[in-house]
Amino acid sequence: MNAASRLCEIIAQGGKVSSGFYDGDRSFAALVQHGFLRKAGVLDAVVCDECSEAHSAPVVYEQLDHGYYCPELGLVKLAPEQVIAYRPDLPFLIGKLADLLDCEQRKATPLQDQTWRIGAFTAAHDKIMLYFHPRLQTEEDARQLQDTLSRHARSRWRLILTCQGAWPMADIVTAHLDQVVDLDPTTGALRLLEDPGTLAGAPRASTVGRPDQHGHLIKPLIEDRISTGAAATAIKAEARAVKAIFEAAYPGKPLPSDSTLQRYVRAARKGS
Ligand SMILES: [Zn+2]
Repeated sequence: MNAASRLCEIIAQGGKVSSGFYDGDRSFAALVQHGFLRKAGVLDAVVCDECSEAHSAPVVYEQLDHGYYCPELGLVKLAPEQVIAYRPDLPFLIGKLADLLDCEQRKATPLQDQTWRIGAFTAAHDKIMLYFHPRLQTEEDARQLQDTLSRHARSRWRLILTCQGAWPMADIVTAHLDQVVDLDPTTGALRLLEDPGTLAGAPRASTVGRPDQHGHLIKPLIEDRISTGAAATAIKAEARAVKAIFEAAYPGKPLPSDSTLQRYVRAARKGS
């Protein structure tokens, strides 16, 4: 499972997860390494696989060790790495998403309950408001989201990112986080897979005279190549390489001019 999908799966569980359970999983290790998952003390409970009946049991701390009580085996000790818990760092994720899309009107804490406002990003002439709600699996999840949205100013275009479920709601467009972004396990950088404006239903503007239209898609590409050491030394050669990657990744999307691409490359180098 790729890192973005693994993160979705863990967020959807809605609580702490065990590092022991994901032992050897490269995506899990990348999420920890890049700060999407943070240590959160000790697990509340574990599943016993030592006896004839799989059961869960609360983690206890006794005789200077962590462990749990099994009806068959009594006190079963657990190694420290089996009890370390991790929790998704949602404020960190929301901030990364807002950075990726260069959002305005960001909010670093939930609006209410579990609904977050990532911020507004501008595509062509339209402002698209992006939200995050961990799960849209049940009617109750949907009700919470709708209740929160109803208390805030309505933007014409909005998209709600979620990790699990797609409960149908009138007038609300949702998409799964791992459908919209990809997470590079080496650098921890997020990359857009789909244009949120298009997903939200905003009309695409004509590209004539709008060379910056895909800046939010192209800039991460350039930064990614710099951070992984793939970037060509010459500005023109690098702009050509970026153009080829963009064309392969977004077939049919109109490209900015060569001079605009070169300007993006130069700007990214100054910033690094
Ligand atoms: Zn047991």
